[in-house]
Amino acid sequence: MVRAVVGANWGDEGKGKITDMLGKESDIIVRFQGGANAGHTIVNDYGKFALHTLPSGVFYDHTTSIIGNGVALNIPVLFNEVKEIVDRGVPMPKILVSDRAQMVMPYHILFDEYEEERLAGKSFGSTKSGIAPFYSDKYAKIGFQVSELFDEASLKEKIERVIVQKNILLEHLYHKPLLNADEIFNTLMEYKEMVAPYVCDVSAFLYEAIKEGKNILLEGQLGSLKDPDHGIYPMVTSSSTLAAYGAIGAGIPPYEIKQIITVCKAYSSAVGAGAFVSEIFGEEADELRRRGGDGGEYGATTGRPRRMGWFDCVASRYGCRIQGTTDVAFTVLDVLGYLDEIPVCVGYEIDGEVTKEFPTTGKLEKAKPVLEVLPGWNCDIRGIKTYEELPENCRKYIEFVEEQLGFPITMISNGPGRNDIIYRNK
Ligand code: GDP
Repeated sequence: MVRAVVGANWGDEGKGKITDMLGKESDIIVRFQGGANAGHTIVNDYGKFALHTLPSGVFYDHTTSIIGNGVALNIPVLFNEVKEIVDRGVPMPKILVSDRAQMVMPYHILFDEYEEERLAGKSFGSTKSGIAPFYSDKYAKIGFQVSELFDEASLKEKIERVIVQKNILLEHLYHKPLLNADEIFNTLMEYKEMVAPYVCDVSAFLYEAIKEGKNILLEGQLGSLKDPDHGIYPMVTSSSTLAAYGAIGAGIPPYEIKQIITVCKAYSSAVGAGAFVSEIFGEEADELRRRGGDGGEYGATTGRPRRMGWFDCVASRYGCRIQGTTDVAFTVLDVLGYLDEIPVCVGYEIDGEVTKEFPTTGKLEKAKPVLEVLPGWNCDIRGIKTYEELPENCRKYIEFVEEQLGFPITMISNGPGRNDIIYRNK
């Protein structure tokens, strides 16, 4: 059976933890999109880890971890990450890399930096991991697949062809040093050395695995609202964050994805620019940021403080709908235990009209939150194992959110650890 774990919001919903937890019952875990620009934080028996490229299942010795064709593969980052976890005592994970995955080239990172510099204050808040230049090149058909590392003559010729255009931009737009084809070729030969033992026809591997009835988990990065088609364009990421894209980015039939677990956080946080309707500021935001997640709401990759807000029913309902949610995993609920009252955004007021439908970006920027205030539960819910044991106001909060979302909350996460989870039969 194939399942997907994806985000309903702006990312950082706690997908890493849910994937790590579900990884236990999985044979294969696949990353199908994105790159090393975001990360999952995982707390397990080996310690606390921030993963950027490796699938979250790498901590189990029974799973195969796959980098699918949809990923923006940064080879040195991948192997540094492998080294880091192995150095900290995790057994060497079984890894497969799609021969059709494309590689983040050293110049993608440079172009990302140069473009941010050029845009200065008007930038999109890129993490400068080369992801946007990477996907631009992929779709402009001048990207490099892992498979191309194995045909040196054509590779050389293609590098020379591709950098002609890059060098014109470097010289005339960015006024930066030019690229050298030999240097790039040599770097790619180093990449080849690193990746060669793991390269595989992933879609063929998964086809067999599905026939054998293996459990496969597709692991999404970021969330619905960062999807380039359905998110808050242009403040989005460059590859689709939706479960549907799991079929493409892994190379499996769409109808094989039987369960879509959408992770939804009990309050909101976002990084980067863009409209964020339920955003809060000042001391109220600082306190939630300090108490949030596991050790505060700061980016796993960048360390940047996240923007904070109350739970947004409008954005989350849309986020769940566009994912095709079968199950909602409601996370970091324990963090809200300090509040006497918890505001929730239940509608957007746009030009004097209230709506519950998530609008396109232009309208979103004008939206003001319509808040409803729910009573808090004023206690620590960590360690609770069953739904019935949760305080009444906490259950009411969950049920209110579930009603607003229109999708069943079947998992509730009340702490960062693998076992901090409450299952609910729906
Ligand atoms: P991801 O990108 O969606 O995986 O999100 P992050 O890695 O940014 O996860 C958010 C943070 O919340 C991490 O530090 C997790 O360890 C932490 N976390 C996940 N679930 C819970 C939870 O239920 N309670 C608390 N307190 N922290 C959690």
